Amino acid sequence: MKLYSTNNPDNIVSLKEAVINAFPIDKGLYMPQQIPIFSKEELLDMWSYSFPELSQSVAKKLIGNLIPQAELEKIIKRAINFPAPVVTFNDQLSTLELFHGPTMAFKDFGARFMAELMSYFLRGETAKTTILVATSGDTGGAVASGFHNTEGIDVVILYPSGKVSPLQEKQLTTWGSNIKAVEVKGVFDDCQRLVKQAFLDNELNDNYSFSSANSINIARLIPQSFYYFEAYKQLRDKFDDIVFSVPSGNFGNLTAGLIAKKMGLPISKFLAATNMNNTVPLYLSTGNYQPKPSLATISNAMDVGSPSNFSRIQSLYSSTWNMLKKDIKGSFYTDDQTVSGLKELKDLYNYIADPHGAIGYLASKEYLKKTDCHCVFLETAHPAKFQEVVEPVLEDKINIPTKLLSFMEKEKHAYLIENSFEDFKSLLLDIHSHS
Ligand SMILES: *Cc1c(COP(=O)(O)O)cnc(C)c1O
Repeated sequence: MKLYSTNNPDNIVSLKEAVINAFPIDKGLYMPQQIPIFSKEELLDMWSYSFPELSQSVAKKLIGNLIPQAELEKIIKRAINFPAPVVTFNDQLSTLELFHGPTMAFKDFGARFMAELMSYFLRGETAKTTILVATSGDTGGAVASGFHNTEGIDVVILYPSGKVSPLQEKQLTTWGSNIKAVEVKGVFDDCQRLVKQAFLDNELNDNYSFSSANSINIARLIPQSFYYFEAYKQLRDKFDDIVFSVPSGNFGNLTAGLIAKKMGLPISKFLAATNMNNTVPLYLSTGNYQPKPSLATISNAMDVGSPSNFSRIQSLYSSTWNMLKKDIKGSFYTDDQTVSGLKELKDLYNYIADPHGAIGYLASKEYLKKTDCHCVFLETAHPAKFQEVVEPVLEDKINIPTKLLSFMEKEKHAYLIENSFEDFKSLLLDIHSHS
């Protein structure tokens, strides 16, 4: 498997390089040079596989023999160690629950696989690698969980003080061991700036071997294609025409679905469902791509005005709007509509969704008015993660799973710093001198 940069097809790297140094110098994103296709016979065999076995087939097809079979099997076993069940409501509608991982959001899939792959590629290196990651909430928790107790890798997570929910904060600050949390008196953009500056600082680079666990890492995309196969497996006997509705922000999830389709998974259509950060749906209807500043909504993990994976989608379709439009249908919803989606799911199906899943539901419903198919909306987080939104809407208490409760009971440990690079740098040097 070789990868190229979306900004320069001649910039070609190995998977190891793409995983360890996620950013090409030309500021593009890495994409596989070739996406291999399963034959009909191969696919037929795969439908009897367990989720980990299915994941392994997909990974092997994509990655090839780069990683020995037994090693790949270990990586998958550890990363994909929780299910992705489909819940069917009626002949037209299902949901794919992607929140059964340790931090109860679909980002666990990407983060866990990336952690396993990095630790495989870095095995045998004498220097310890330190991963710097800035988070506005959920990503940091999934990354922390993925890398917790991974040998040879330390993780430093920066998060904006007072800007993450109490549960999110606990999911960032209670790990101990190789995971360190830095609470920055600033906003998310400040955290990102501090990380970027650290990568460029000579003195820090003399002491540390840095890497990034950014959301654009190709290692996070690969495992997200696995669960489209898994969902199809669960539904193929019952329904003919299966369509996925993907609540989207940075469009990693949707890109992974398109990769699964390219590999031969027979999906006729993807619905790109967003909140009012509707850059991509507008592009799909007008052909005009205009990134804009992000708006705050109640589905805040999708508050992205300039989705980073858009260039990957473009490259999959050779930037041809007409072809892209055939496979992806866009739609977007306000907070009021999201609230009514949450209520409707509860009233009609007795199902409690989270605000992001509710947007996937709304897009499914709209599409089903005109088309006869089976729509599967992705439920990207457990509703308890968005308790403060969901409970007042449904006028009901949500059961908080023990997995989440156990985080709340743990004690927070974070280094509190000013919004200043000097402070961050001296903290890192101090940590280093004590390690
Ligand atoms: C990150 C996230 C999304 C958006 O996924 P993208 O791959 O960025 O489009 C949707 N829902 C939840 C709960 C998320 O955490």
